[in-house]
Amino acid sequence: MELTDMYIQMGIDKKVIDFGREIEDSLADRFAAIDATAEYNQMKVIGAMQKNRVSDVHFSGTTGYGYNDLGRETLEKVYADVFHTEDALVRPQIVCGTHALYTALAGNLRPGDELLSPVGKPYDTLEEVIGIRPSNGSLREYGITYRQVELLPDGSFDYEGIRSAVNERTKLVTIQRSKGYATRPTLSVKQIGELIAFIKSVKPDVICMVDNCYGEFVERIEPSDVGADMVVGSLIKNPGGGLAPIGGYIAGTKKCIENAAYRLGSPGLGREVGASLGVNQSFFQGLFLAPSVVAGALKGAVFAANVYEKLGFSVVPGGSEERHDIIQAVTFGSPDGVIAFCQGIQAAAPVDSFVTPEPWDMPGYDSPVIMAAGAFVQGSSIELSADGPIKPPYSVFFQGGLTWYHAKLGVLMSLEKLREAGIAKL
Ligand SMILES: *Cc1c(COP(=O)(O)O)cnc(C)c1O
Repeated sequence: MELTDMYIQMGIDKKVIDFGREIEDSLADRFAAIDATAEYNQMKVIGAMQKNRVSDVHFSGTTGYGYNDLGRETLEKVYADVFHTEDALVRPQIVCGTHALYTALAGNLRPGDELLSPVGKPYDTLEEVIGIRPSNGSLREYGITYRQVELLPDGSFDYEGIRSAVNERTKLVTIQRSKGYATRPTLSVKQIGELIAFIKSVKPDVICMVDNCYGEFVERIEPSDVGADMVVGSLIKNPGGGLAPIGGYIAGTKKCIENAAYRLGSPGLGREVGASLGVNQSFFQGLFLAPSVVAGALKGAVFAANVYEKLGFSVVPGGSEERHDIIQAVTFGSPDGVIAFCQGIQAAAPVDSFVTPEPWDMPGYDSPVIMAAGAFVQGSSIELSADGPIKPPYSVFFQGGLTWYHAKLGVLMSLEKLREAGIAKL
């Protein structure tokens, strides 16, 4: 059977297949550049594993207190070398990205300190961590205040606003690399470096932390290469490579990591405890795969941007724009477009392809939300996934794909559903 027949058998119309092929052919240079970055980052990861003499003894886990967990300690050294930091904390006890960020913040801030975001509002879940929205146990309840400086209308940094926001209580600056589900542009690592240099020129001893979620391995350098004191992320996103079943990481200076470890565990215990159970091998192997998994996800995002841009829908980033994270937004302008897109992503999944996602009133959201995910790891968004709030301008956010081929099938299937609904015309 020809490849085209395989796609037809999967339920994709010939017109969609041909249109997709035309777009794919036009992206050869983009894909080659993505592959070159993946190759660079693959060497970075293998080099760090070799330097730390990773061996199969590191794949067995500990139980109970987890003292002397050689695998855990070696993995943390590997992460520190990949991110070029003094130290790292990489643990299954970190339950998700929000928890990693909370641990980094709460471990390094004390009552009376102030936290500053110079890039506008942080990711939704951070609002409750910080106490922007009143929340049980927030940093605010512990006497840590918060200030934020908006980006300028063109998306650039408000340097004068930042200079006047920094004061004697400013202890930590949080910089979110990815736009997440906001409309601002994602920051490049170079831009983050410029921002950190400016902040350190105003107040040299301030701690600069970067929320690195969705950004790892998209570029050849990470924010820790341009002055960040801490980079923080989730292992069910980029660096887990799709294999990590749970977890988060914090990489940074010795002092910052020590402070975070005492918060994750308890005062007096710190990083010496925390059994790795059976996850060490998945963490190592996931990190090993991460550069090429991220490349597949990036190709999927670039492909989606070009497919939908060509059909006249508004896409962020644009089809030919440079990428700094793996998220793609597409605006359909109608609830039906958002629903058809998400149903296509679901129908292309290896897991739960037979279920039909519907919008629902999710707690914490001000409108119904539809989510598509057919993942091996619950909630994993390095796996192909999409979600969209059912409210104007009716945009979906699409990310992940453990392989380029799956991401491509997802985009083609989404287009097939939009074609069947008469929303996309080919
Ligand atoms: C995903 C994400 C988070 C939170 O991670 P969870 O694992 O969902 O808790 C924080 N910041 C950004 C930018 C993210 O993309």
